[in-house]
Amino acid sequence: MTSPSSLQTDASAALFDRARAVTPGGVNSPVRAFNAVGGTPRFIRSAKGAWLTDVDGNEYVDLICSWGPMLLGHAHPEVQAAVAEAVARGTSYGTPTVPEVELAEEIVARTAVEKVRFVSSGTEATMSAIRLARGFTGREIVIKFAGCYHGHVDALLASAGSGLATLAVPGTPGVPASSAGLTIVLPYNDKVAVAAAFAEFGDRVACLITEAAPGNMGVVPPAPGFNAFLAQICRENGALFISDEVMTGFRASRQGQWGLDGAVEGWVPDLTTFGKVMGGGFPAAAFGGRADVMAHLSPEGPVYQAGTLAGNPVATTAGLTTLRLATDEVYDHISAAGETIKSAVADALAKEGVPHVIQATGTMFSVFFKDAAVSNFAEASEQDLPAYTAFFHAMLDQGVYLPPSAYEAWFLSSAHDDRAIQQVLDALPAAASAAAAA
Ligand code: PMP
Repeated sequence: MTSPSSLQTDASAALFDRARAVTPGGVNSPVRAFNAVGGTPRFIRSAKGAWLTDVDGNEYVDLICSWGPMLLGHAHPEVQAAVAEAVARGTSYGTPTVPEVELAEEIVARTAVEKVRFVSSGTEATMSAIRLARGFTGREIVIKFAGCYHGHVDALLASAGSGLATLAVPGTPGVPASSAGLTIVLPYNDKVAVAAAFAEFGDRVACLITEAAPGNMGVVPPAPGFNAFLAQICRENGALFISDEVMTGFRASRQGQWGLDGAVEGWVPDLTTFGKVMGGGFPAAAFGGRADVMAHLSPEGPVYQAGTLAGNPVATTAGLTTLRLATDEVYDHISAAGETIKSAVADALAKEGVPHVIQATGTMFSVFFKDAAVSNFAEASEQDLPAYTAFFHAMLDQGVYLPPSAYEAWFLSSAHDDRAIQQVLDALPAAASAAAAA
């Protein structure tokens, strides 16, 4: 696709050429290449608060916030200062440190987990949680949902086999059939499918993993009671319930998605994975849960797991400072900013007759370019992608950086002030009209 931008993007285009010569697709994570929407990916030079500045000098209101982590906005002065102090003390020792203990205490205090182990990415967190679940139960099968993304873990890059309760096939070349063949992929929000899978394979299921509220097919909230049902059916079958809060953790609410359902309904996941916000913009993630399950982890127990940079003092300092600053006021602000943007998006799209549905869980939301509510991946896939592409580029041209894919959540921060929000609102009519014309 050619670049439809009316902005000057020569410097980004030149860097993209250089990058493609030395890196597959020119990027280190596929969605950054703008594959779904076309055009020149913007190389960002710096960021402050709600704003990104690219290498051509264009400024954008950032509605992806590094895909979730930047809850307080970019270059928050207190996070920057804490990180600078940490860096001055050295960047990695390969020993236990103070900030990792404090961050673990903070996470345990905020969530349902009793013990937590740090890793460096969300992928590692889910991979390790699954290994632990298999080691703890002595079973091998993993159940997941179509449209839920848990990182690029072999067993989780699986596609549904034919029929409901069947073992899956690899979702990408490079995943062994033997690995995907231990995974069952089911439609999200479908209790009947879950019950059927447990009826067929119950005594072989190590764990069921789900995004606590899916955000990787756009935001698809769990139907009321769905997570509680999953927790219960896992318990009845001796399987572990893994709630993936890499995206929702400390984002959907102060306590993540669990704060919106589990804490209210009185159930807890056996294991939970975290990432993004808890790293404050650095590579840090975690998995945690029941103390008796976590006790199976090396060096306390037999299940091996380790990491040279796990619990890195700079990363855990950034995460700890971020979480300490993530007060109720932060979530209230993000929630209010989200309400303003959601209603303006709905008005602008309605005015132009563009089919749309806005879905949210806590402070997290996304816009689907279709006319009926989305409860699973098949429904999310019915979007009008050309309409989203036109909308995306019209917003980008007016200085608003949306996710370059129709299947992603939109992220805000406590730094999204009136000026940033106004720039989003001002861009909407032209973008809605572009979507209508697509
Ligand atoms: N789980 C969820 C729910 C995620 O959203 C992501 C990343 N988008 C991951 C796991 C993987 O995290 P990472 O990209 O840090 O490996």
